[in-house]
Amino acid sequence: MSELSGRPGGRREVPGASAQEVDQQVDEQVDVAVIGAGPCGLAAAIAVGRAGLRAVVYDRACLVSGVHGYPTYMNFFSTAERISIGGVPFAVATEKPTRRDALAYYRTVARYFALDVRQYEAVESFAPLPPDAMVRVREGADRAGGLGTEVGRGGGDLGGGELSGTERGGAGVPRGADAGVGPPPTSNLPDYGGDLTITPPPRAPASRTPRFLVHSTTRTGQARITAAHAIVVATGYFGSPNRLNVPGEDLPHVSHRFGDGHESWDLPAVVVGGGNSAVDAALELYRAGARVTLVHFREAIDPNVKPWVMPDITGRIRDGTIAARFSSQVVAIDVDHVVVRTPAGDERVPADRVYLMLGYQPNAALLRAAGVPMDEVTGIPAHDPATMESVIPGVFIAGVLASGFDANKTFIENGRHHGDLIARRLAGGATV
Ligand SMILES: Cc1cc2nc3c(=O)[nH]c(=O)nc-3n(C[C@H](O)[C@H](O)[C@H](O)COP(=O)(O)OP(=O)(O)OC[C@H]3O[C@@H](n4cnc5c(N)ncnc54)[C@H](O)[C@@H]3O)c2cc1C
Repeated sequence: MSELSGRPGGRREVPGASAQEVDQQVDEQVDVAVIGAGPCGLAAAIAVGRAGLRAVVYDRACLVSGVHGYPTYMNFFSTAERISIGGVPFAVATEKPTRRDALAYYRTVARYFALDVRQYEAVESFAPLPPDAMVRVREGADRAGGLGTEVGRGGGDLGGGELSGTERGGAGVPRGADAGVGPPPTSNLPDYGGDLTITPPPRAPASRTPRFLVHSTTRTGQARITAAHAIVVATGYFGSPNRLNVPGEDLPHVSHRFGDGHESWDLPAVVVGGGNSAVDAALELYRAGARVTLVHFREAIDPNVKPWVMPDITGRIRDGTIAARFSSQVVAIDVDHVVVRTPAGDERVPADRVYLMLGYQPNAALLRAAGVPMDEVTGIPAHDPATMESVIPGVFIAGVLASGFDANKTFIENGRHHGDLIARRLAGGATV
């Protein structure tokens, strides 16, 4: 049986451990558990990996699933270098990267740093380790669905903090860089005409005293427990779209996201909202041949719409090629129309497709359940912006989650730097 918290020839006590220690079996131990493989979670994993810490990144969906869910043909409003992470250049031939460029870039970065990403593994909860717990890696524990390595197999005694070869090589360690892992699994890697490991960050066996237990469920439904020294919650906001809360909202022709306009060719389509997502959807639907009506509760398009798009949408509305109902609200959705409450009274607007582009709520459930308070008005989790550490020592936040209900304050552009603050705190903080 592996004792990841053992000292040479014996046990390393978990702080506060009593004579009546309780065995806490885990599937593995890491230094940092990053929850969310969005751009900011990945940047955090790279940063803590560079600080010599072993990180694992969980995502309940695929890598950068938020970006994957963007409109198919979307261009970023940021230039490529402003959404690059880990110092890895992001070169594109055009002014702004496309969604597809970005997906390819983030895949490459994750591969380059050999980030230990557990796709389709949802974190259900995390909690402090009981003070009298002695952490042991379950005999024969297997990582299930990651890079194909195994943890603690064979019950080797890992006393003294020495981890087996299979345990080495967490986030920040180029894949295959550890001789203990066996031959580098290069067969499925592209040939970049050089050595992928030219800038190897430090190797990182888990080295810090575990303080938390992370409970996750793999794609195949397997429950897993991971011991971690620190948690980075980078769960973003894409999973929880704002709802209109009107009858008919869950009908099959109603969507809270927009993919591409083709599906609405030659059909009446209603777009609800007045921000960037609604405007982009309305314009693309119009170009794809849909008959578009934009419904917005304000009196005009939101002023923060991308400046280069504003003339396009206002021109289309002015010439009537896109219909608009301002100061109006959809109050009911039926199979072939919506009911719009306008200042002049209720109006029935034909709608074979309905797109509710109303923004998202932050995915803060895990933080809330862990006891991190949220500001009731802003939705911002209580944290120190200099370190991104929440009021629970060792629990950090990263990415758009930090801006609470206002997703327009934190983007990839600024959220990508949170990991550096976290790594600095973990590398030098007094309590860690
Ligand atoms: C159409 C569009 C265009 C945009 N363009 C730009 C741009 O040009 N520039 C820019 O800087 N920003 C842009 N943004 C904003 C940007 O996408 C977000 O700010 C960014 O994705 C936030 O990154 P993140 O890592 O914080 O979170 P996210 O990207 O939201 O990632 C969070 C991840 O956490 C995972 N997750 C959630 N809960 C759990 C759980 N319990 N267990 C495991 N995993 C979990 C999710 O599956 C998700 O993959 C745009 C957004 C949209 C919608």
